[in-house]
Amino acid sequence: MCGIIGYIGNKPASPILINGLMRLEYRGYDSAGISTIEKNGLSIMKDKGRVKNLYDIDGIDKLTGTIGIAHTRWATHGKPSKENSHPHIDNHNMFSVVHNGIIENYNELKTFLLDNGYTFYSQTDTEVVPNLVHYYYTKDTKSDKLKFLRAVKNACNMLNGSFAIEILCKDYPNNMIVVRKDSPLVIGKGEDENYISSDIPAILSFTRNFYLLNDLEFANLSKNSIDFYDNNLNLINKETTVIEWNTSSAEKDGYDDFMLKEIYEQPNAIRETIGAKLDDNSRCDFSELNFTKDFLSSLNNIYIIACGTAMHAGLTGKYAIENLCKIHTEVDVASEFRYRSPLIDKKTLCIFISQSGETADTIAALKLCKEKGAKTLAISNVIGSSLTREADYSVYTHAGPEIAVASTKAYTSQVILITLLAIYFAEVLEQNNSEINLLKKDIIELPKKIEETLKLSETIKNFSRKVYQEKDIFFIGRGIDETVAKEGSLKLKEISYIHSESYPAGELKHGAIALIEKDVTVVSILTDENLVKKTISNIQEVITRGAKTLIITNKDINEDMFDVVIKIPDTNTLLSPILSIIPLQLFAYHISKEKGLDVDKPRNLAKSVTVE
Ligand code: GLU
Repeated sequence: MCGIIGYIGNKPASPILINGLMRLEYRGYDSAGISTIEKNGLSIMKDKGRVKNLYDIDGIDKLTGTIGIAHTRWATHGKPSKENSHPHIDNHNMFSVVHNGIIENYNELKTFLLDNGYTFYSQTDTEVVPNLVHYYYTKDTKSDKLKFLRAVKNACNMLNGSFAIEILCKDYPNNMIVVRKDSPLVIGKGEDENYISSDIPAILSFTRNFYLLNDLEFANLSKNSIDFYDNNLNLINKETTVIEWNTSSAEKDGYDDFMLKEIYEQPNAIRETIGAKLDDNSRCDFSELNFTKDFLSSLNNIYIIACGTAMHAGLTGKYAIENLCKIHTEVDVASEFRYRSPLIDKKTLCIFISQSGETADTIAALKLCKEKGAKTLAISNVIGSSLTREADYSVYTHAGPEIAVASTKAYTSQVILITLLAIYFAEVLEQNNSEINLLKKDIIELPKKIEETLKLSETIKNFSRKVYQEKDIFFIGRGIDETVAKEGSLKLKEISYIHSESYPAGELKHGAIALIEKDVTVVSILTDENLVKKTISNIQEVITRGAKTLIITNKDINEDMFDVVIKIPDTNTLLSPILSIIPLQLFAYHISKEKGLDVDKPRNLAKSVTVE
């Protein structure tokens, strides 16, 4: 959460910073601000609300400084307000700081600084940072070119929690220092200029050469140099990572919203992910894993750990792994996993899913699993992300950058990747059978079937117009369809603000059916041949109580019973979530549009949840 941008070069920094913030705004939109070094010292311009409000600040168009830092906030400590906006500055106007994360011991640090004569003007945890840097800077009796860096390092050693920090110092107008711990930050290398960002897409139009920092590594940047240091301030070497993403994938390309664009990118995103893993002879290629039959047969169980939509993708993975590999598989919410003494050891494989690879709860769960001796495998969309650097093994979805807060193409790419992973495990375990061959054929046909499913958008839009003012909408399904009900319900909540619940269809009568009354909408997913009849009985129960029904199915059913039936292409049940979720993504999208909401930036949410 929160986006940070930095620039150092020959051009005026402020337009570059504001443009970068616009691209990062999906990470937080409580406030925005920039700090540059001008002829007369540090300048700070900031305000509550969206990045575009910065244009209204007097004098922002007059800034000429060629070095600057910027921030778009997702507030954790202190309400969204101008005074709590970043950048924050120390009491002596020497250091300006932007910060992503949480300083967990900020109260103790604040007391320490108050005792040393400092004053605080905001309610944020961040404000201790510039003052602490100032404290160490003034205590340092040497005055060499590393004095600024030493002060930052000494201050950072006092911080508990998570941080990605950019700092400017009035005395060092040609340098910027950055550091990270458990929060994302990348450095983009240009020609006589360098960039900092919370993520790669925001600066992809300037450079494809990136440096990735590990925890508690520092970078001291000038316009034509970047020096890296470890936590003892020893110089270290870093290689650049070249990013191949297409720059247009970070633009809207004529679509009204990133979410709609990303929904329509799904055929290609899936094609890329399948293409990377299923070779011309339809062999499932995960050579980067090199798992042996002995290793996989030694496993007592597999845990899949993730948050939100990625966790829902994990639920489909449970079906694929248990079905194809016969290994007991549990799926856990990352933020809960650590607090229930999970039974993991060397005979456990833990799989972590995160689009950004920066999800704080998921990274924390991964660290715990490693401590307990389990093998860890990350599934992410971002090469070099923190999760992939912590894990023993990593595999990547090839969905391209996902900008909309509500995840769509990342979900379907995760579902296909984990299904391919299950096939690979089954092949290593020599459980190769005709079912797997049929499944592979269905996988190859998926992108075309997604294209067909997308053509149903108009029918879904018409239904959305009828229900967009409702207060509650229910989603039901059985088996793998229930995992899709969960994801459909989450999508709707996220972007339409309609209260929504998802239930296993058979569970409804154990309580929630009490909420069904005339004209309440119930959305049902019906793709598992073995469960269709039973789910239809449950739908009948809600129709009897007056519910309106929207059905997503790939089976031939008696359509007369229902209000609207969306018929999607048939496929293997293990793959059906990839098709059945698409009408539900479109359903949430059209309802949100009908209500006039900001689809890409729903209230209170932000992409890439980098705080626990
Ligand atoms: N904890 C800081 C604040 O509330 C930073 C939040 C963020 O990452 O946006 O200001």
